[in-house]
Amino acid sequence: MTDSTLIHATNVIGGNVTQPNPNAPVLDVINPANASVIGKVYLSDTNSLNEAVSAAQNAFESWSKTTIKNRVQVFYKYKTLLEDNIEELTDLIIREHGKIYSEAKAEIEKAIEIVEFACSLPQIVPGEVLEVSRGVECKSYREPLGVVASIVPFNFPSMVPHWTIPIAIALGNSFILKPSEQVPLSAMRIAELLKEAGLPDGVFNIVQGDKTIVEAICDHPDIQAVSFVGSTHIAAVVYERASANLKRVLALGGAKNHLILLPDAHPDMAASNIIASMSGCSGQRCMAASALMAVGDVDHIIEKMVEEAKKIIPGDNLGPVISAAAKERIENYITEAEKAGATIILDGRNPNVDGNKDGFYVGPTLIDNVTPDMAIAKEEVFGPVMSITRVKDISHAIEIENSSEYGNGAGIFTQSGKIANEVSKQLQSGMIGINIGVPVPREPFSFGGMNGSKFGAGDITGKSSIEFWTRIRKITSKWNPEAAVNWMS
Ligand code: NAD
Repeated sequence: MTDSTLIHATNVIGGNVTQPNPNAPVLDVINPANASVIGKVYLSDTNSLNEAVSAAQNAFESWSKTTIKNRVQVFYKYKTLLEDNIEELTDLIIREHGKIYSEAKAEIEKAIEIVEFACSLPQIVPGEVLEVSRGVECKSYREPLGVVASIVPFNFPSMVPHWTIPIAIALGNSFILKPSEQVPLSAMRIAELLKEAGLPDGVFNIVQGDKTIVEAICDHPDIQAVSFVGSTHIAAVVYERASANLKRVLALGGAKNHLILLPDAHPDMAASNIIASMSGCSGQRCMAASALMAVGDVDHIIEKMVEEAKKIIPGDNLGPVISAAAKERIENYITEAEKAGATIILDGRNPNVDGNKDGFYVGPTLIDNVTPDMAIAKEEVFGPVMSITRVKDISHAIEIENSSEYGNGAGIFTQSGKIANEVSKQLQSGMIGINIGVPVPREPFSFGGMNGSKFGAGDITGKSSIEFWTRIRKITSKWNPEAAVNWMS
């Protein structure tokens, strides 16, 4: 690919796409399927953030005064634009992230669902009014916060930004997005489509960058709220730094999701769901199951899991992982587990991928006899790898799940409703699945984990997000001529 065909990821400030700054540090955007350079991302300095904040502040003046019924009209149009452009948006995700077609398209479909939720906000957010004593009325309503920021990870270049963009903006805020520097291209197209949908300039801005911009967002005095999605370590750093600067912060972190498999589980359904959970998006989902607690004799289901996993072919129905470094990290986990005494029952290291020999592929990998003390049992691997730990009973499985530092998703496979119900209340995770491998709540239910998978109150989508992106104004009024005073006068 020649330089002129590269896609440039730059800033979008006040409705204008900035020209690449020749002095800015620049990174290649790499297609992980074949290691080819498809674009460049220009990393911003704090001056760019200052410009974006001031553009957003200017836009906030009139956007916050626009009625919510009018604000959501933009998102009705935007939803249609997402639908009309779904193939192009899907293709962009495939190129910058490496996802297979169905997974890339599903990202846009999920984004559309969140936009639909944002369109329903006028029906959900009306305030309250009550005559609290004769002639005295208390009224409350929600108002936007001002300029807000959203920092996002690489694994969903379009869906995760949409967890926050439509909701925060429909509620009247103006917005700064900091995309992942590994997948900065989808965001540029999102900006174009929002503009085409009629969003006023400056309400949505993009600042491309890395750690420097994230830290500047946390420190900026005119940013009122920060949402973050990424790894736990950085989530904690962002939570602490932005909170110390008295901002509202919601920081979603990494995950180690456990599934409990009981012998009475439906063998075919359990096997295909478990394998889909660990291998979908090449295991690069914060809701991917990566630790299976095998209770009692479940060998007949594990055999079926191996059969299912063998149907997953790198380069065909399995995409690459994001980078050469990620491939190396994932394969090291497998090698270390093997050295520590685990049994590799399906080995996905260094697969042969016809036509894409340079791609960052790891095949589906199943590792049996993993013990809870091994790194692979405790740490987030973020690849298509499932470790299987043999446990004596359900209590033991729950104990292992509960000892994880994370708490995003967890689940159980069984045909006993009673056991499933009891276990679902004991797992230390925010999103629980019963006979489902990826228990992501659909709109209008909210998304969010607990423990090391989330810092801050509330969830990032659904009704819970309304709390995060607004504050409540309370007005008490007296419209009677009585002169008598009481404690409220
Ligand atoms: P990451 O933490 O490396 O990066 C996330 C964001 O933080 C990016 O925008 C990046 O530019 C920025 N960043 C990176 N290093 C930084 C630093 N030192 N200081 C300040 N900012 C920094 O995460 P990632 O690798 O892009 O994404 C994968 C991670 O995200 C996994 O841990 C995954 O579980 C997690 N994730 C969690 C959820 C959730 O809902 N809990 C959803 C998606 C992804």
